[in-house]
Amino acid sequence: MRSEIKLLGYPLEHSISPIFQQVALDYCGIEADYVACSVIESGLSNEVQKIRTDRCLGANVTIPYKEKIIPMLDKIDSTASKLGAVNTIVKQEGQLVGYNTDLYGFTKGLMDHGGFNPSGKNALIFGAGGAARAAAFGLVNQKVSNLTIVNRDFERAKSLANELMNHGFTCFAKSLDNENLQHIICKADLIVNSTPIGMDKHSQQGMSILGSNILAKSNYVYDLVYSPAQTQLIEQANEVGARSLGGLPMLIYQGAFAFTMWTSHEAPVELMFEVANKALNTR
Ligand code: NAP
Repeated sequence: MRSEIKLLGYPLEHSISPIFQQVALDYCGIEADYVACSVIESGLSNEVQKIRTDRCLGANVTIPYKEKIIPMLDKIDSTASKLGAVNTIVKQEGQLVGYNTDLYGFTKGLMDHGGFNPSGKNALIFGAGGAARAAAFGLVNQKVSNLTIVNRDFERAKSLANELMNHGFTCFAKSLDNENLQHIICKADLIVNSTPIGMDKHSQQGMSILGSNILAKSNYVYDLVYSPAQTQLIEQANEVGARSLGGLPMLIYQGAFAFTMWTSHEAPVELMFEVANKALNTR
């Protein structure tokens, strides 16, 4: 019988993980199916129990269950615990262990794919949710000089900034309507969008977190939104000649890390990029 790797979330129509993960499994000759399980909250613990069966190799977890799944697992690794979110479940010695590969995906995407080294730089993150937490911890791990978290809900920005300060990092919190925002943006070497603004099928599809004429050539823009590949924010960066990176590398690298943990095979990253790009371009 073929094995299975589950993707748990709700809804899942938007996800391209099943496409590139299945191609990777087939390429490596692994007799397994990557199965999207769109599950409502009341059915989540039952799906988690199914991961315990021999047939299942592990799982990915996506919105809205990255936090809710934690009490259902046997162990949580230190990164997932710090981020308060699990996106990958691996079976180890009969136990379900929760990992978070988003931080790895964020950093690897930025440094290896984007060619940007955060060390000693001024960084600014829009958002204070799960992706922003991965970005913030990823950047402090890479020794940014200082970090500003900008969020619509200022209390959430403050809470994340305080958490990072407690780990000994220089971090500031600002509200999205702060009047000095333009000045802070001017001084930022790196600007990360970890809000859904600009994402396909979102109420603010085609829009940008920034107004026009705010970016400068010296900014590096990292938009974690991966669909569409060319968001309005990336177009704004292109217009002023600023370097930029979309969210696809983060998605692929977080998936590649999970793939290796489930299968002990090196992930065919280039092939995963190829099929993911094709899937996004035909949407
Ligand atoms: P989340 O936990 O729900 O956080 C969303 C964040 O965006 C919050 O800080 C929220 O602010 C802010 N936000 C939402 N709508 C906004 C609006 N209209 N105006 C201003 N701020 C707004 O979501 P998440 O998991 O962090 O994901 C955020 C986005 O990151 C996703 O939509 C996705 O595009 C991207 N992402 C990409 C990858 C990847 O692999 N490339 C992985 C994960 C996520 P409040 O706190 O004020 O509500």
